[in-house]
Parts: sequence; structure tokens; C-alpha cells
Amino acid sequence: MPKLDFYHSSTHNLVVIPTIVCSKISMNSKVEKEYWYITSLSQMTNDEWEALCDGCARCCLNKLEDWDTGEIYWTNVACELLDCETCKCKDYENRQSRMPDCIQLTKNNISEIVWLPPNCAYRLISEGDDLPDWHPLVSGNAGRVHEAGVSVRGRVIPENNMKPEDLENHIVDWPREIVHSGS
Ligand code: SF4
Ligand code: SF4
Repeated sequence: MPKLDFYHSSTHNLVVIPTIVCSKISMNSKVEKEYWYITSLSQMTNDEWEALCDGCARCCLNKLEDWDTGEIYWTNVACELLDCETCKCKDYENRQSRMPDCIQLTKNNISEIVWLPPNCAYRLISEGDDLPDWHPLVSGNAGRVHEAGVSVRGRVIPENNMKPEDLENHIVDWPREIVHSGS
């Protein structure tokens, strides 16, 4: 998505949020069982931090912010590097050179990212909540995030060649809705 600062739509003054944030999605990290109960985010090792990511890919969606009200609008338009079926980045290792807007979520910047989706494990833990039963660390199954309807699989489109001003036609509510249980 080309960088766009501000534009005036028919109904709002909007800005495309310039940071797309994602942590590395990995099921291969070596972590202790239920470590998130006894280890704060700031004390986690890199493996523990990265294993928290559930692979939902909601953070890889484009978002708009109304600069008059601060309201965030989610869209169903995914970053062009997202594989919309697997919900994985197609070039994770080189993503920051290819997509400068993709910024790593870290212990230092998590408190500044106000738009993390409510299901995001980093947001849940930072707000003192538990991980839901569909989370890979709880279920032991990376596929549960898709089965529970948490991931973006099957309901997003790639941003290929889409003009930033067309994002307003793709605003959806579901990315900011929480899924408490996958059962
Ligand atoms: S929203 Fe949070 S849990 Fe979901 S993919 Fe992004 S960083 Fe991972
Ligand atoms: S570059 Fe990769 S990790 Fe970053 S927002 Fe795009 S798909 Fe997600």
C-alpha cells in the first residue's frame, strides 16, 4: 500500500495508519508450559515473546484513523505480503525492507500501539487477561485459531494495486470483535 498521509473522503477525514505490526509467528519456540502465568511480558525471553503470537494475522490488515475523532476503522484488506490462506507473511525475514510500514511489536513499543485487536495475545496478557482456549499455546494446535474464527483466513483480500482512498469501501467490524472461546 503506498504511503498516504491524509485524505478527505465523502464522510470522514482519514489517515491510513502507517504502522503495521506483527510478531514472528512460530510454533517451534522452546518455552515452558504456561509460562505466561509467571513471567511478565517485560521478562520474557525472545522465544517466549514470539511464541505468544497466535497467528491470527489481524495486525496485518490495513486500518484507517479518523484524524478528527481518533477512531480506528479496520478493513478486510491485507498487507500485500500476507498469504491470506495460511495467514503467514510470505517474506518474513525481509519484510521490513519490502514493507517499511511493518514494525516489529516489542516490549518497548507495545504500550504505544493502541489498536492491537482485542484477541491479540500481547494485548490480553498486557491487560492481565488469560489466553483463550483456541490459542496455540493452550490448545497445542496451531489450526485452532482458524477453526475458532479468530484468524483472517477466508475473509480478507490482498491490497494488490488498491488505491488507499478505496480502503474506505472495505471497512469491517469483525477484527475488533473478541472471540472468547472456540468451543
Ligand atoms: S494480532 Fe497479535 S496475536 Fe494476532 S498475529 Fe498479530 S501479533 Fe500475533
Ligand atoms: S510484511 Fe508480513 S508481517 Fe508485516 S504486515 Fe505484511 S504480512 Fe504482516
